[in-house]
Parts: sequence; C-alpha cells; structure tokens
Amino acid sequence: MNDRKSRELFNRAIVKLPGAVNSPVRAWSAVGGAPLFINRASGSFIFDADDNPFIDYVCSYGPAILGHAHPRVVAALADQAKLGLGFGATTEIEVELAELISGAIACAERVRLVSSGTEAGMTALRLARAATGRAKIIKFDGCYHGHSDSLLVKAGSGGMTLGIADSGGVPAALAALTMVARYNSVESVDRLLASARGEVAAIIVEPVAANMGVVLPLPNFLRELAELAHREGALLIADEVISGFRLNFGSISEATGVTPDLIMLGKIIGGGLPVGAIAGSARVMDLLAPRGPVYQAGTLSGNPLSVRAGLETLKVLKETNPYAALDASGGRLESGLRKAFASAEVAARINRAGSILTPFVGTSAPCNDADDARKSDTQLFAKFFHAMLERGVNLAPSQFEAMFVSTAHSEETIDQTIVAAEGALAALHDASSMRQS
Ligand SMILES: *Cc1c(COP(=O)(O)O)cnc(C)c1O
Repeated sequence: MNDRKSRELFNRAIVKLPGAVNSPVRAWSAVGGAPLFINRASGSFIFDADDNPFIDYVCSYGPAILGHAHPRVVAALADQAKLGLGFGATTEIEVELAELISGAIACAERVRLVSSGTEAGMTALRLARAATGRAKIIKFDGCYHGHSDSLLVKAGSGGMTLGIADSGGVPAALAALTMVARYNSVESVDRLLASARGEVAAIIVEPVAANMGVVLPLPNFLRELAELAHREGALLIADEVISGFRLNFGSISEATGVTPDLIMLGKIIGGGLPVGAIAGSARVMDLLAPRGPVYQAGTLSGNPLSVRAGLETLKVLKETNPYAALDASGGRLESGLRKAFASAEVAARINRAGSILTPFVGTSAPCNDADDARKSDTQLFAKFFHAMLERGVNLAPSQFEAMFVSTAHSEETIDQTIVAAEGALAALHDASSMRQS
C-alpha cells in the first residue's frame, strides 16, 4: 500500500499537533505505525491522502449513520451556508430540531443544544447537582461521557487504549466526588449508594456502552438502576451520545422501558458537525439560565450548520426508518466475522447492538463490563487491525471502540469485509502457528 503522502503529512503534523492529532483516539499508539491521513469519504468508503480506498467502520465515531457525505445532508448544508453561518440569535431550525427530538423521545420535554457531547455531560452533571443539592456522582468503569473533569475517571476507550486510568490535571478533590461502579452490576451501585447516603446527585450511564467496545446492558440492569437512583433521590442521566437515534428513532433507554431524568445526545443529531444536547423533564431543564440559576452558554451552540445537518439527518432517518435494515446489516457482519474467527481458530467474543459491534479479540468469555473487555488481547487486535487495513478495511485503532455500520454499507460491502477478515485472520493464524513450530 502506498502511504507516501500520509507519511509526509504525519511528519509535518507531529511537529505542530501534540501526538499529530486533535483527539487522542485517532492516534495509532495502540496498534503501532503512522496513522493514515484521510482526504475524503463517500458512502461506506473513505480515501486516504494517497487515494487508497477503505471500507470504513469508523464512520466519524458514530455520526455518519447515513454513510459519508449523504447527498441530502450535503445539499442542506450548502443551502444553509448561503444563508449565513451564525447569528447569535435563535433560529427556526433550532426549534424544529428540538421539536423533532421531543417528538421521538418522550422524556425530552426541553432540549438545550451545545457543541459537543462533552459539554452535554458537563451540563447534565451541573443540572443534577443543582436539582438535588448534592455533589457526588456515580459513573461506570469503561463508560465515557466526554472529557470534563468530573467525568474523566475510568472513562473508557481513550484512557483504556493509552493506559491512562485517570487523567492528569484533574484535582483530586473533584475526582473524589466521582464514584465508580461496575457496569452491569447493580450490587456495585447499591454499595456505593450505601456508602454515601443522601450525597449522590446522579447516576450516569451509557444505556448501551460503546466506549469500552460494545457492551450491552444485562436484562433489567437499566430498570433497576433507575429504581435505585430514584429511591435515593438521585437523577438517572442516560448518555445516549452514541445510542441516541443509532438503535431506534429516539432513545434506547425509553425503548427498554426506562425513563431517564436527563438524557445526553450528540453525534448523529449533528449529522457530522459538532453538536451535543441535554434534554429532560421541564422541572430539571428549566433550572438552566435564563429560566433558572444554572449557568451554561455557548457562542456557537445551536449553530445553523450543525443544526441543519442534524435536522436533515434525522428527517432522512424518520422518513426511511432504516433501523431494521441496519440491524440486519450488523447481524450479517457479526455472523460473517464469527465464522471467520472460528475457521481461523482465533478466539473472539463479538458483542453487538444493532449497527454497532465489537469483536473482543483473543477472549471467548462473555464481555459484560470493563474488566471483561480488558481480557482481550490488544496485541492480537493490533495485528488484526493492520491485516484488515492491508485488505482495504478501516477499523478504529483500538480494541475498545465500536465498529459502526451505516445505511450505505451494502450487503456486498459487508461481504467484502468478511472476505477481508477471513484473509486477515488466516494470515494471523499462519503467523502464530509458524511461531509455535
Ligand atoms: C462521543 C461521546 C461523548 C463525547 O462527545 P464529544 O462530542 O466527543 O465531546 C460522550 N458520551 C458518549 C457516550 C460518547 O460516545
């Protein structure tokens, strides 16, 4: 594979951008080698700086549910850009987007748009603390809720990949307010609540975890979590920045019968542009300034380009209702990968929710929490990553991320991916039996 331009760009980038990236998950620290630079993308394919094509399962880490550069989203953006890029005032499309979100998510009585999931998490905590008059929060090992100080404790893929359990620069006094439970363990939450009676403002959870690799909630986990939170007078915050509008047209918490007090959205609702949202009951949301005392603001919050791209994406999703088809595509990929791993005799546990999935390489035990995920063989994953890349398939450069399938991934594209996986795994198998002999 010719990667001359990528290498040149990397050599320039490393001088000016810390680690040659603007977000650490993009670095190839965990898989080795110099990362490819990407020039353009269309549908299910991305093209690097040397114009090599790859079937893409990163999909911008989630937003590109319609594939890259969907014609309707691009046209809406072009149209919006001509009208001006931002006004510092509320626009009709912001109201329209909030109405669409409220229509799809019953608990979203009010919506505030921000520019990232990180801001949504930061604001959700502030709201929960103001609503309850309490300071502590409970999060789960392996769940990521953005990089605000309070939430950067045992925060999933980025840190897990780089071996950074907790970030530097977070004051210990603040981190001490964040308690960490085990995903899928109601008992672990119960214990923490008992140790801090009347002090916990919120339990924050990814209802389908996707930042330690995909980890599904066990039956009743979310419902019992909601019961525990409410019994203790704490709020349940559902972080649906990935799962929102990914698994159904709305919230996966609500689809499983759970009503969160606050819900965080992002990624898909910005159609590929920077976005985040906090939504929830009027009672809690009206604590936000200017209605209430909780301050939160943003020069580009609800900016017309993000809002228009998100609105168009949600309209396409609503009109075409692709969720059954996305689930079928995810299922096709899952069963093909399962066969490929089995026939190469490489252990893997594949977790899938609809169109997101993770093969945990080198382990066949169930993956229900971050400790399970950490049992995967990250060195073997690194080899798998490179072997797939050589065969024209782009995965996220970490074991602890999801593969994202979009509506643009056709059956043929998925079958091509499976053929690539068969080849990649056969090569890994041969290499390891050569070492053994
Ligand atoms: C991506 C993500 C975030 C953070 O969103 P940013 O826009 O990257 O700040 C928060 N929570 C979850 C579950 C995410 O996947």
